[in-house]
Amino acid sequence: MKDIIIAGIAWSGKGTQARALEEKFGDQVQYFEPGAVLRALSSNDNIVGNYAKTYTSNGLLLPDAFMGSVLSLVFASLHQGNRLLVDGFPRMHSQKKIFDDAMSAWGREFVVFHLVIDEDEAVSRLQRRMFCPSCGTTYNELLHGEIKYCPQDSTLLKRRTDDMSMEAIQARFDAFYKETKPILDEYKTEGRLIEINGQQPVEAVTLEILSHL
Ligand SMILES: [Zn+2]
Repeated sequence: MKDIIIAGIAWSGKGTQARALEEKFGDQVQYFEPGAVLRALSSNDNIVGNYAKTYTSNGLLLPDAFMGSVLSLVFASLHQGNRLLVDGFPRMHSQKKIFDDAMSAWGREFVVFHLVIDEDEAVSRLQRRMFCPSCGTTYNELLHGEIKYCPQDSTLLKRRTDDMSMEAIQARFDAFYKETKPILDEYKTEGRLIEINGQQPVEAVTLEILSHL
């Protein structure tokens, strides 16, 4: 049974597909999304939380050695026979090295799915996303229909783009092409990469991923 890495530009549907696979495999899969782990760590007022915060609050990446330690914890906590499902990591060459070394040290086999979508589609998805400034929940007009107020606390929803300039969006794409795409090309050369058309309906993308597992 191979571990699964999901990659793609921002808003390519990585999180959505990860949740669908989690639902499909239930407790046979362990989900690892470094961004969520780092946000959770940074929210603690203690020595580790404050260390992480000095990086995350300035939009900086945690040092590779730190991510390596987090990865060690992930592998150490993996149950025998379970699949690891990784969302959005590794993102750059130095992380690929840490990740590949850890995978081989723990004897894990893995496959990388690249959800391919074009930038126009990514921006149009972003523009259909709303979030609640009070509770932080994200809503998508595609899934939830047109809504103006948060169903949980009646706060007026804002669009994601309100706090994101086109320059900031473009910077996310540029970082992907500059740093992440080259390592996906390497995974392709290594025979580990499968490209999936991410512009199909959500369910079709999930089925295509499953057909390769
Ligand atoms: Zn809310």
